[in-house]
Amino acid sequence: MKRVRRAYENLFRGLLEGLGARRVEQGVQRLFAQAASLAQRESLSLTRALVRVNEELWRKRRRMQRRSAGAPADELPPRLFLCDGGLGGLARWLRAAGHRAVWLASVSDKELLEQAVEEQATVLTTDSTLLERRLVRDGQVPLLWLPPLLKLEEQLALVVEHFALRAGEPRCMDCGGELRAVAKETVRDRIPPRTYRWLDDYYLCDHCDRLFWRGSHWRNIRRRLPTQLTDR
Ligand SMILES: [Zn+2]
Repeated sequence: MKRVRRAYENLFRGLLEGLGARRVEQGVQRLFAQAASLAQRESLSLTRALVRVNEELWRKRRRMQRRSAGAPADELPPRLFLCDGGLGGLARWLRAAGHRAVWLASVSDKELLEQAVEEQATVLTTDSTLLERRLVRDGQVPLLWLPPLLKLEEQLALVVEHFALRAGEPRCMDCGGELRAVAKETVRDRIPPRTYRWLDDYYLCDHCDRLFWRGSHWRNIRRRLPTQLTDR
């Protein structure tokens, strides 16, 4: 809990600074008190309550950013997510939900943050020490720290809520490329005969040429996505 607490202290500090708060340390204490009372009120673990308080703070910050950018939410350019080594599964699911996500299996913290600056990307990480990096604390690199031990679905739900993501057209889970529909006759030799008989919709990845179809695997994935993502 001590590490989690420290991670949130850093996170809150950075967010409060970004919001222009004057008494940052007092603000951090107030947020912890809020989380504690929320935990008690709704019988949550303190970690869960901290997640919720943090989300609320992010929402506030997003509203502020939108106001200052003068653009409504849906005109903001789509986010690029950089997922660190432990989050390969999350990257795949974000793509299935139509988002741009890159999995960086083995880069140093420094490289990860530099790439995020260069590509104006958002970092997703389970490494709480990244919250202490200057680029993150200054708000130059938007970063969401995911508490360790979350299940894949919980990670995805957290990211979706945090950034208010909507479902887009599914992308290739392997590489994030765009999918385009193909006539099934042209890819017949790549489809199991039984599937070929009952299914008509097939998609090729523009980038890596992997073939997808909306069979049971596809439906399973979509079903397991948070509700915001399955509206369409
Ligand atoms: Zn692909």
